[in-house]
Amino acid sequence: MTPPVCVTIDVEDWYDGMEVLGVPVPKPDGARSGLTGLVEHLEATEGSPKVTLFVVGNYADEVSEELAGMAKAGHEIASHGPDHGRLPEDPAALVEWLRSGKEGLEDRFQVPVRGFRSPRFDRPTSQSLEQYREAVAEAGFEYVSDTHVMGKGSPVTELPVLVMHGFPIGGGSYQRLMPASVASGMVGRSVGPAVVYYHSYDFDATLPTLGSIRSVAEAKQLVGRGRVERAFSKILSRYGSKACVDVQR
Ligand SMILES: [Zn+2]
Repeated sequence: MTPPVCVTIDVEDWYDGMEVLGVPVPKPDGARSGLTGLVEHLEATEGSPKVTLFVVGNYADEVSEELAGMAKAGHEIASHGPDHGRLPEDPAALVEWLRSGKEGLEDRFQVPVRGFRSPRFDRPTSQSLEQYREAVAEAGFEYVSDTHVMGKGSPVTELPVLVMHGFPIGGGSYQRLMPASVASGMVGRSVGPAVVYYHSYDFDATLPTLGSIRSVAEAKQLVGRGRVERAFSKILSRYGSKACVDVQR
């Protein structure tokens, strides 16, 4: 039997990400976020698939209308942190940081935010996984989706992204490096919910053209991006998608 598939989208600004990497690229006026392109894909797929959107809090304002429309259509809003920075190491500051990401989205979209994914699937280096999971629960989340697994005893449900040979191949950034059929086949062989992830800017967002690339860091982020949409479509049409919140219950 095919496992349930959760297609998840990290909703963040590509240009902000480059700035965090220390390689700022000027953002054109009126740049498309990619969310409209994503909605077109979802609407064109039979069976009305539902996705989970892990939203970076400080980007929500810019894409507020698109996200409100998606929430209304039944897609899940979850948190990708109040910002795309590093997780605070101090335990109390961490809970506060996690909570502010959750409450900011709840206030804005008037929906419960139950899931969390850290900006780079990371966790505080000075805390054990157990302490980190406790902090996520204390902030009010019910589930977490990253690359770590604490297993039994975790105070929050764990929905790890699909990892194979140590690589999070459930991610669009990896799928652009392999044929769409390979990624799709791996999803079908997954044990338990197959959580795959993409970025909002994978869907016809305004990104620099390959000809304008000025750095290796930029090239690494852009090469093969166009192929991500193909892998996404293949997985979506073959398996459909459920929101994480509907799988963890
Ligand atoms: Zn991210």
